[in-house]
Amino acid sequence: MTEPMRTVEEHLARILASVQPLGGESVPVGGAIGRTLTEPLRALVDIPVFDNSAMDGFAVRFADVAGAASESPVRLRVVADLPAGSALDPPIGPGEAARIMTGSAVPTAADVIVPFEDTALGLEGSLEMTLVRVAPRTAGLFIRRRAADASVGDELLPRGTVVGPLQAAAAAAAGATTFVVAATPRVAVISTGSELVQPGSPLRRGQIPESNSELLTGLVAEAGGAVVLRRSVADDEAALREVLRHAADVAADVVVFSGGVSAGAYEVVKNTLGPGGEMSFVKVAMQPGKPQGFGRSADGALLFGLPGNPVSVAVSFETFVRPALLALQSRAALHRPVLRLPAAVGWRTPPNRRQYLPAVIDRSDPGAWSVAPATAGGSGSHLAGGLGRAEAYAIVPAEVDEVEAGTAVDVMLLT
Ligand code: AMP
Ligand code: MG
Repeated sequence: MTEPMRTVEEHLARILASVQPLGGESVPVGGAIGRTLTEPLRALVDIPVFDNSAMDGFAVRFADVAGAASESPVRLRVVADLPAGSALDPPIGPGEAARIMTGSAVPTAADVIVPFEDTALGLEGSLEMTLVRVAPRTAGLFIRRRAADASVGDELLPRGTVVGPLQAAAAAAAGATTFVVAATPRVAVISTGSELVQPGSPLRRGQIPESNSELLTGLVAEAGGAVVLRRSVADDEAALREVLRHAADVAADVVVFSGGVSAGAYEVVKNTLGPGGEMSFVKVAMQPGKPQGFGRSADGALLFGLPGNPVSVAVSFETFVRPALLALQSRAALHRPVLRLPAAVGWRTPPNRRQYLPAVIDRSDPGAWSVAPATAGGSGSHLAGGLGRAEAYAIVPAEVDEVEAGTAVDVMLLT
Protein backbone atom coordinates (compact mmCIF):
# COMPACT_ATOMS: atom_id res chain seq x y z
CA MET A 1 0.00 0.00 0.00
CA THR A 2 1.35 3.39 -0.91
CA GLU A 3 1.40 6.01 1.80
CA PRO A 4 -0.76 9.06 0.96
CA MET A 5 1.25 12.06 -0.10
CA ARG A 6 1.44 15.09 2.16
CA THR A 7 0.04 18.35 0.89
CA VAL A 8 2.32 21.34 0.56
CA GLU A 9 0.42 23.00 3.43
CA GLU A 10 0.84 19.99 5.72
CA HIS A 11 4.56 19.79 5.08
CA LEU A 12 5.06 23.52 5.50
CA ALA A 13 3.05 23.53 8.75
CA ARG A 14 5.38 20.90 10.20
CA ILE A 15 8.40 22.89 9.17
CA LEU A 16 7.08 26.16 10.58
CA ALA A 17 6.18 24.41 13.85
CA SER A 18 9.91 23.67 14.31
CA VAL A 19 11.02 27.23 13.72
CA GLN A 20 12.15 29.17 16.77
CA PRO A 21 12.56 32.81 15.79
CA LEU A 22 16.06 34.21 16.14
CA GLY A 23 16.82 36.98 18.60
CA GLY A 24 16.96 40.67 17.78
CA GLU A 25 19.88 43.07 17.54
CA SER A 26 20.13 46.82 17.26
CA VAL A 27 21.52 48.12 13.95
CA PRO A 28 21.86 51.60 12.43
CA VAL A 29 18.87 52.60 10.29
CA GLY A 30 21.06 52.89 7.19
CA GLY A 31 22.45 49.38 7.63
CA ALA A 32 19.12 47.64 8.04
CA ILE A 33 17.92 47.30 4.44
CA GLY A 34 16.52 43.78 3.94
CA ARG A 35 16.38 43.06 7.68
CA THR A 36 13.15 42.36 9.58
CA LEU A 37 11.97 44.32 12.62
CA THR A 38 11.59 42.27 15.80
CA GLU A 39 10.38 45.33 17.67
CA PRO A 40 8.05 48.00 16.31
CA LEU A 41 9.56 51.32 15.30
CA ARG A 42 7.98 54.19 17.26
CA ALA A 43 8.22 57.87 16.44
CA LEU A 44 10.74 59.79 18.57
CA VAL A 45 9.61 63.15 17.18
CA ASP A 46 6.30 64.34 15.72
CA ILE A 47 5.91 64.27 11.94
CA PRO A 48 5.68 67.12 10.96
CA VAL A 49 7.86 68.33 13.80
CA PHE A 50 6.10 71.77 13.89
CA ASP A 51 3.40 73.65 11.99
CA ASN A 52 5.10 74.62 8.74
CA SER A 53 4.40 76.17 5.41
CA ALA A 54 3.46 73.98 2.44
CA MET A 55 4.21 76.78 -0.02
CA ASP A 56 6.58 79.61 -0.77
CA GLY A 57 4.64 82.82 -0.07
CA PHE A 58 3.41 84.80 2.90
CA ALA A 59 2.25 83.87 6.39
CA VAL A 60 -0.72 86.13 7.11
CA ARG A 61 -3.82 86.56 9.29
CA PHE A 62 -6.84 85.06 7.57
CA ALA A 63 -9.10 87.90 8.68
CA ASP A 64 -6.89 90.34 6.75
CA VAL A 65 -7.16 88.57 3.42
CA ALA A 66 -10.58 86.89 3.54
CA GLY A 67 -12.00 89.57 1.23
CA ALA A 68 -9.12 89.74 -1.25
CA ALA A 69 -9.96 89.59 -4.96
CA SER A 70 -8.18 90.59 -8.14
CA GLU A 71 -10.30 93.80 -8.41
CA SER A 72 -9.70 94.60 -4.75
CA PRO A 73 -6.29 93.22 -3.74
CA VAL A 74 -5.26 93.48 -0.08
CA ARG A 75 -2.00 95.25 0.62
CA LEU A 76 0.12 93.85 3.47
CA ARG A 77 3.37 95.15 4.93
CA VAL A 78 6.08 92.48 5.10
CA VAL A 79 7.68 92.51 8.55
CA ALA A 80 9.87 89.39 8.50
CA ASP A 81 11.55 86.87 6.22
CA LEU A 82 11.47 83.17 7.16
CA PRO A 83 13.74 80.93 5.10
CA ALA A 84 13.66 77.17 5.87
CA GLY A 85 15.47 76.50 9.13
CA SER A 86 14.68 79.92 10.63
CA ALA A 87 14.05 79.85 14.38
CA LEU A 88 12.18 83.20 14.36
CA ASP A 89 8.57 83.56 15.51
CA PRO A 90 7.89 87.17 14.50
CA PRO A 91 4.76 88.99 15.72
CA ILE A 92 2.36 89.77 12.87
CA GLY A 93 -0.12 92.59 13.46
CA PRO A 94 -3.20 93.50 11.42
CA GLY A 95 -2.19 94.45 7.87
CA GLU A 96 1.15 92.62 8.19
CA ALA A 97 2.71 89.51 6.69
CA ALA A 98 5.90 87.47 6.93
CA ARG A 99 7.56 86.15 3.78
CA ILE A 100 7.92 82.40 4.28
CA MET A 101 9.48 79.49 2.39
CA THR A 102 8.26 75.89 2.21
CA GLY A 103 9.10 73.97 5.37
CA SER A 104 9.60 77.07 7.57
CA ALA A 105 7.83 77.24 10.94
CA VAL A 106 4.59 79.21 10.63
CA PRO A 107 4.56 82.21 12.99
CA THR A 108 2.24 81.76 15.96
CA ALA A 109 0.37 84.90 14.97
CA ALA A 110 -0.40 83.69 11.40
CA ASP A 111 -3.18 81.27 10.52
CA VAL A 112 -2.92 80.89 6.77
CA ILE A 113 -0.33 80.92 3.97
CA VAL A 114 -0.84 82.87 0.76
CA PRO A 115 1.37 81.45 -1.98
CA PHE A 116 3.30 83.83 -4.26
CA GLU A 117 1.00 82.72 -7.09
CA ASP A 118 -1.97 84.35 -5.33
CA THR A 119 -0.31 87.75 -5.07
CA ALA A 120 -0.04 90.45 -7.71
CA LEU A 121 3.74 90.80 -7.57
CA GLY A 122 5.07 87.39 -6.53
CA LEU A 123 8.69 87.60 -5.37
CA GLU A 124 9.09 91.16 -6.63
CA GLY A 125 9.47 93.61 -3.73
CA SER A 126 8.36 90.80 -1.44
CA LEU A 127 10.55 91.91 1.46
CA GLU A 128 8.63 95.22 1.64
CA MET A 129 5.01 94.53 0.74
CA THR A 130 2.64 92.20 -1.06
CA LEU A 131 -0.72 92.54 -2.82
CA VAL A 132 -2.95 89.53 -2.15
CA ARG A 133 -5.41 89.04 -4.99
CA VAL A 134 -6.88 85.62 -4.18
CA ALA A 135 -8.54 84.98 -0.81
CA PRO A 136 -7.63 81.64 0.79
CA ARG A 137 -10.64 79.32 0.90
CA THR A 138 -10.28 78.74 4.63
CA ALA A 139 -8.03 79.55 7.54
CA GLY A 140 -5.25 77.00 7.90
CA LEU A 141 -4.74 76.59 4.17
CA PHE A 142 -1.18 75.53 3.18
CA ILE A 143 -0.19 74.97 6.79
CA ARG A 144 1.14 71.45 7.40
CA ARG A 145 0.11 70.74 10.96
CA ARG A 146 2.42 69.38 13.62
CA ALA A 147 1.91 65.60 14.14
CA ALA A 148 -0.60 65.33 11.27
CA ASP A 149 1.26 62.18 10.15
CA ALA A 150 2.55 60.76 13.46
CA SER A 151 2.94 61.76 17.10
CA VAL A 152 5.79 60.87 19.44
CA GLY A 153 5.31 57.27 20.57
CA ASP A 154 3.10 56.23 17.62
CA GLU A 155 3.94 52.85 16.08
CA LEU A 156 5.17 53.70 12.59
CA LEU A 157 6.38 50.24 11.52
CA PRO A 158 5.08 47.06 13.16
CA ARG A 159 7.21 44.12 14.20
CA GLY A 160 7.67 41.79 11.23
CA THR A 161 8.17 44.60 8.71
CA VAL A 162 11.02 44.16 6.26
CA VAL A 163 13.12 47.31 6.04
CA GLY A 164 13.48 48.90 2.62
CA PRO A 165 14.42 52.43 1.63
CA LEU A 166 10.91 53.74 2.34
CA GLN A 167 10.90 52.28 5.85
CA ALA A 168 14.42 53.56 6.58
CA ALA A 169 13.37 57.04 5.46
CA ALA A 170 10.22 56.94 7.62
CA ALA A 171 12.31 55.94 10.63
CA ALA A 172 14.83 58.71 10.00
CA ALA A 173 11.99 61.24 9.64
CA ALA A 174 10.71 60.03 13.02
CA GLY A 175 14.09 60.75 14.60
CA ALA A 176 15.22 57.13 14.92
CA THR A 177 18.85 56.17 14.45
CA THR A 178 18.52 52.43 15.05
CA PHE A 179 16.18 49.54 14.34
CA VAL A 180 15.88 46.33 16.33
CA VAL A 181 16.02 43.59 13.70
CA ALA A 182 16.23 39.82 13.66
CA ALA A 183 19.66 38.24 13.62
CA THR A 184 20.64 37.05 10.15
CA PRO A 185 19.96 33.32 9.71
CA ARG A 186 23.23 31.44 9.16
CA VAL A 187 22.80 28.94 6.36
CA ALA A 188 24.93 26.03 5.13
CA VAL A 189 24.37 25.08 1.48
CA ILE A 190 25.50 21.54 0.71
CA SER A 191 25.26 20.03 -2.75
CA THR A 192 25.47 16.25 -2.99
CA GLY A 193 26.31 14.17 -6.05
CA SER A 194 29.38 12.34 -7.32
CA GLU A 195 28.66 13.70 -10.82
CA LEU A 196 29.11 17.33 -9.79
CA VAL A 197 32.15 19.45 -10.62
CA GLN A 198 32.95 23.14 -10.29
CA PRO A 199 31.44 25.14 -13.18
CA GLY A 200 34.17 25.84 -15.73
CA SER A 201 36.09 22.62 -15.03
CA PRO A 202 36.55 20.19 -17.91
CA LEU A 203 33.76 17.61 -17.89
CA ARG A 204 34.55 13.96 -18.34
CA ARG A 205 31.72 11.66 -19.34
CA GLY A 206 29.09 11.55 -16.59
CA GLN A 207 30.00 14.85 -15.00
CA ILE A 208 27.97 18.09 -14.93
CA PRO A 209 28.58 21.58 -13.59
CA GLU A 210 27.36 22.01 -10.02
CA SER A 211 24.73 24.77 -10.11
CA ASN A 212 22.42 24.27 -7.13
CA SER A 213 24.75 25.98 -4.69
CA GLU A 214 24.76 29.06 -6.89
CA LEU A 215 20.98 29.03 -6.95
CA LEU A 216 20.61 28.45 -3.23
CA THR A 217 23.22 31.02 -2.25
CA GLY A 218 21.33 33.69 -4.17
CA LEU A 219 17.93 32.60 -2.88
CA VAL A 220 19.20 32.55 0.71
CA ALA A 221 20.57 36.08 0.35
CA GLU A 222 17.26 37.29 -1.10
CA ALA A 223 15.48 35.77 1.88
CA GLY A 224 17.69 37.68 4.32
CA GLY A 225 20.05 34.80 5.21
CA ALA A 226 23.83 34.56 5.05
CA VAL A 227 25.55 31.52 3.58
CA VAL A 228 28.24 30.60 6.11
CA LEU A 229 29.25 27.31 4.51
CA ARG A 230 29.02 26.16 0.88
CA ARG A 231 30.21 22.71 -0.08
CA SER A 232 29.75 20.12 -2.78
CA VAL A 233 30.23 16.54 -1.58
CA ALA A 234 30.25 13.17 -3.32
CA ASP A 235 27.58 10.57 -2.59
CA ASP A 236 29.54 9.32 0.38
CA GLU A 237 28.11 8.93 3.88
CA ALA A 238 31.35 9.74 5.71
CA ALA A 239 31.82 12.88 3.63
CA LEU A 240 28.26 13.96 4.39
CA ARG A 241 28.67 13.42 8.14
CA GLU A 242 31.88 15.38 8.03
CA VAL A 243 30.29 18.36 6.30
CA LEU A 244 27.36 18.31 8.73
CA ARG A 245 29.84 18.55 11.61
CA HIS A 246 31.39 21.47 9.82
CA ALA A 247 27.98 23.16 9.59
CA ALA A 248 27.66 22.80 13.36
CA ASP A 249 31.15 24.28 13.84
CA VAL A 250 30.14 27.41 11.94
CA ALA A 251 26.88 27.60 13.97
CA ALA A 252 24.55 27.20 11.01
CA ASP A 253 20.88 27.77 11.91
CA VAL A 254 19.79 26.06 8.71
CA VAL A 255 21.38 23.39 6.51
CA VAL A 256 20.06 23.01 2.98
CA PHE A 257 21.10 19.83 1.18
CA SER A 258 20.34 19.35 -2.48
CA GLY A 259 20.22 15.92 -4.09
CA GLY A 260 20.31 12.50 -2.54
CA VAL A 261 16.77 12.37 -1.16
CA SER A 262 14.77 10.31 -3.66
CA ALA A 263 14.37 6.61 -4.39
CA GLY A 264 17.68 5.63 -5.97
CA ALA A 265 20.44 3.40 -4.67
CA TYR A 266 22.89 6.13 -3.68
CA GLU A 267 20.70 8.70 -1.93
CA VAL A 268 23.34 9.97 0.43
CA VAL A 269 21.28 12.43 2.45
CA LYS A 270 18.43 9.98 2.93
CA ASN A 271 20.70 7.05 3.70
CA THR A 272 22.88 8.96 6.13
CA LEU A 273 20.29 11.01 8.01
CA GLY A 274 17.11 9.00 7.32
CA PRO A 275 15.40 6.25 9.35
CA GLY A 276 16.41 6.63 12.98
CA GLY A 277 18.46 9.69 12.11
CA GLU A 278 17.93 13.41 12.24
CA MET A 279 15.65 13.75 9.21
CA SER A 280 12.42 12.25 7.93
CA PHE A 281 11.73 11.80 4.25
CA VAL A 282 8.27 12.16 2.79
CA LYS A 283 6.43 12.58 -0.48
CA VAL A 284 4.70 15.89 -1.02
CA ALA A 285 1.91 16.22 -3.60
CA MET A 286 3.71 18.72 -5.77
CA GLN A 287 5.59 18.74 -9.05
CA PRO A 288 8.48 19.27 -9.06
CA GLY A 289 9.69 18.63 -5.52
CA LYS A 290 7.92 15.41 -4.53
CA PRO A 291 10.63 13.87 -2.34
CA GLN A 292 11.37 16.14 0.63
CA GLY A 293 13.51 15.66 3.69
CA PHE A 294 13.22 17.72 6.84
CA GLY A 295 14.54 17.49 10.38
CA ARG A 296 16.67 19.04 13.08
CA SER A 297 20.27 18.38 13.98
CA ALA A 298 21.35 17.61 17.54
CA ASP A 299 22.22 21.28 18.03
CA GLY A 300 18.87 22.49 16.71
CA ALA A 301 19.70 23.49 13.13
CA LEU A 302 16.85 23.04 10.66
CA LEU A 303 17.83 20.45 8.05
CA PHE A 304 16.25 20.57 4.59
CA GLY A 305 16.80 17.80 2.05
CA LEU A 306 15.70 19.04 -1.37
CA PRO A 307 15.59 16.88 -4.50
CA GLY A 308 18.57 17.71 -6.71
CA ASN A 309 17.06 18.73 -10.02
CA PRO A 310 17.63 22.47 -10.32
CA VAL A 311 13.98 23.35 -10.91
CA SER A 312 13.01 21.14 -7.96
CA VAL A 313 15.51 22.98 -5.80
CA ALA A 314 14.16 26.37 -6.84
CA VAL A 315 10.54 25.38 -6.26
CA SER A 316 11.26 23.55 -3.00
CA PHE A 317 13.15 26.56 -1.70
CA GLU A 318 10.23 28.87 -2.52
CA THR A 319 7.71 26.55 -0.96
CA PHE A 320 9.48 25.43 2.20
CA VAL A 321 12.88 26.99 2.87
CA ARG A 322 12.06 30.63 2.19
CA PRO A 323 9.04 30.70 4.53
CA ALA A 324 11.18 29.07 7.23
CA LEU A 325 13.99 31.60 6.77
CA LEU A 326 11.47 34.44 6.97
CA ALA A 327 9.81 32.91 10.05
CA LEU A 328 13.24 32.68 11.72
CA GLN A 329 13.42 36.45 11.17
CA SER A 330 9.88 37.00 12.52
CA ARG A 331 8.79 38.33 9.12
CA ALA A 332 5.05 39.10 9.09
CA ALA A 333 4.46 37.99 5.49
CA LEU A 334 5.94 34.57 4.76
CA HIS A 335 4.56 34.19 1.26
CA ARG A 336 5.15 35.82 -2.10
CA PRO A 337 2.29 37.69 -3.73
CA VAL A 338 0.05 35.56 -5.92
CA LEU A 339 -2.15 36.97 -8.64
CA ARG A 340 -4.49 35.28 -11.06
CA LEU A 341 -3.71 35.63 -14.76
CA PRO A 342 -5.06 34.04 -17.92
CA ALA A 343 -2.85 31.40 -19.51
CA ALA A 344 -1.51 32.61 -22.88
CA VAL A 345 -1.17 29.00 -24.07
CA GLY A 346 -2.34 25.63 -22.79
CA TRP A 347 -0.20 22.98 -21.08
CA ARG A 348 -0.55 19.58 -19.44
CA THR A 349 -0.04 19.16 -15.72
CA PRO A 350 0.78 16.11 -13.61
CA PRO A 351 -2.20 14.26 -12.09
CA ASN A 352 -2.78 14.49 -8.32
CA ARG A 353 0.09 16.86 -7.64
CA ARG A 354 0.09 20.60 -7.45
CA GLN A 355 2.20 21.97 -10.26
CA TYR A 356 4.71 24.80 -9.85
CA LEU A 357 5.66 25.72 -13.38
CA PRO A 358 8.46 28.21 -14.08
CA ALA A 359 6.68 30.88 -16.06
CA VAL A 360 7.03 34.14 -17.93
CA ILE A 361 4.52 36.96 -17.80
CA ASP A 362 3.57 39.03 -20.83
CA ARG A 363 3.26 42.51 -19.29
CA SER A 364 2.97 44.42 -22.58
CA ASP A 365 -0.63 45.46 -21.84
CA PRO A 366 -0.80 46.75 -18.24
CA GLY A 367 -4.50 45.89 -18.14
CA ALA A 368 -4.15 42.37 -19.47
CA TRP A 369 -1.13 40.43 -18.29
CA SER A 370 -0.92 36.77 -19.24
CA VAL A 371 1.22 33.85 -18.17
CA ALA A 372 3.05 31.16 -20.17
CA PRO A 373 5.56 28.38 -19.42
CA ALA A 374 9.16 29.61 -19.33
CA THR A 375 10.45 26.55 -21.18
CA ALA A 376 9.18 24.97 -24.36
CA GLY A 377 10.02 21.62 -22.78
CA GLY A 378 7.17 22.03 -20.30
CA SER A 379 7.58 21.33 -16.63
CA GLY A 380 10.69 19.10 -16.64
CA SER A 381 12.53 19.61 -13.37
CA HIS A 382 15.89 19.17 -15.13
CA LEU A 383 15.44 22.16 -17.45
CA ALA A 384 17.98 24.25 -15.59
CA GLY A 385 18.65 26.66 -18.46
CA GLY A 386 15.02 27.64 -18.94
CA LEU A 387 14.86 28.49 -15.26
CA GLY A 388 16.85 31.58 -16.15
CA ARG A 389 13.90 32.93 -18.09
CA ALA A 390 11.38 32.41 -15.31
CA GLU A 391 9.99 35.38 -13.42
CA ALA A 392 7.15 33.55 -11.71
CA TYR A 393 5.70 30.14 -10.95
CA ALA A 394 2.30 29.21 -12.33
CA ILE A 395 0.58 27.16 -9.62
CA VAL A 396 -1.98 24.65 -10.82
CA PRO A 397 -4.12 22.68 -8.33
CA ALA A 398 -3.61 18.93 -7.98
CA GLU A 399 -7.09 18.17 -9.38
CA VAL A 400 -6.41 19.94 -12.68
CA ASP A 401 -4.83 17.79 -15.41
CA GLU A 402 -4.68 20.34 -18.16
CA VAL A 403 -4.58 24.12 -18.35
CA GLU A 404 -6.40 25.45 -21.38
CA ALA A 405 -5.38 28.70 -23.05
CA GLY A 406 -7.40 31.55 -21.59
CA THR A 407 -8.19 29.96 -18.22
CA ALA A 408 -7.15 31.81 -15.07
CA VAL A 409 -4.09 30.47 -13.24
CA ASP A 410 -2.52 31.45 -9.91
CA VAL A 411 0.86 33.04 -10.47
CA MET A 412 3.46 33.54 -7.77
CA LEU A 413 5.56 36.58 -8.62
CA LEU A 414 9.30 36.30 -8.04
CA THR A 415 10.23 39.80 -9.16
P1 AMP B 1 19.28 13.65 -7.17
O1 AMP B 1 18.17 14.33 -6.43
O2 AMP B 1 20.53 13.57 -6.39
O3 AMP B 1 18.83 12.32 -7.68
O4 AMP B 1 19.59 14.53 -8.42
C1 AMP B 1 18.63 14.71 -9.42
C2 AMP B 1 19.22 15.33 -10.64
O5 AMP B 1 19.69 16.63 -10.33
C3 AMP B 1 20.40 14.58 -11.23
O6 AMP B 1 20.30 14.67 -12.64
C4 AMP B 1 21.58 15.38 -10.72
O7 AMP B 1 22.70 15.27 -11.56
C5 AMP B 1 21.06 16.77 -10.70
N1 AMP B 1 21.73 17.52 -9.65
C6 AMP B 1 21.80 17.17 -8.37
N2 AMP B 1 22.51 18.08 -7.67
C7 AMP B 1 22.88 19.02 -8.55
C8 AMP B 1 23.63 20.23 -8.43
N3 AMP B 1 24.13 20.63 -7.25
N4 AMP B 1 23.82 20.98 -9.53
C9 AMP B 1 23.31 20.59 -10.70
N5 AMP B 1 22.58 19.48 -10.88
C10 AMP B 1 22.37 18.68 -9.82
MG1 MG C 1 22.27 12.69 -6.57
